Amino acid sequence: MRAIYIFLGPPGAGKGTQAKKFSADQGIAHISTGDMLRASMQAGTEQGNQIKAIVDSGNLVSDDVVIDLIRDRISKADCENGFLLDGFPRTVPQAQALKQLLLESDEKLASAILFEVDEIELLARLSGRRDAEQRADDAEETQRKRIDVYHAQTAPLIAYYSEIGKLKRIDSNGTVEEVYEKLREVI
Ligand code: AMP
Repeated sequence: MRAIYIFLGPPGAGKGTQAKKFSADQGIAHISTGDMLRASMQAGTEQGNQIKAIVDSGNLVSDDVVIDLIRDRISKADCENGFLLDGFPRTVPQAQALKQLLLESDEKLASAILFEVDEIELLARLSGRRDAEQRADDAEETQRKRIDVYHAQTAPLIAYYSEIGKLKRIDSNGTVEEVYEKLREVI
């Protein structure tokens, strides 16, 4: 039985950092749809350029595109012990598609972990990342957009996973180490 986790939360909540540590400690694959999309953007193909325009605007790439990426990715050998989904699902249709994929392989989600951060702290972290990583989608005007998109399209997943008894909440306001300690306590 593979260990399957979802990390949920707004952009800048620290999901990616925690996901790297957690997946390495657990010996499971870290799957970030954001990283996968950035890789295809760099390839400079026509599809990559279309994706770049959407990502840079702060909007979400279409469900079909990311569902195809995930279907393919979770069948790879490094997912043998399990995998952690960082940034997927981001919409209810994506969550339904994941449910279907897991049903087909007779598998179950272990939990969906929600990283919660105060909005002021969130904006400060995104500015810090913009300076450090030069990500175009962390530009100031795009930050607000990404947070709005999170509230409109991704936040409904909180109720979705809560209703099926899979949601675990983590206060993600502290340091990386403090948040990781809380994560270990809830898992
Ligand atoms: P992230 O690195 O997770 O913050 O993702 C960066 C950007 O990639 C997002 O703002 C979206 O434009 C796109 N993206 C990543 N994951 C998804 C997803 N599951 N569904 C749609 N778009 C996504």
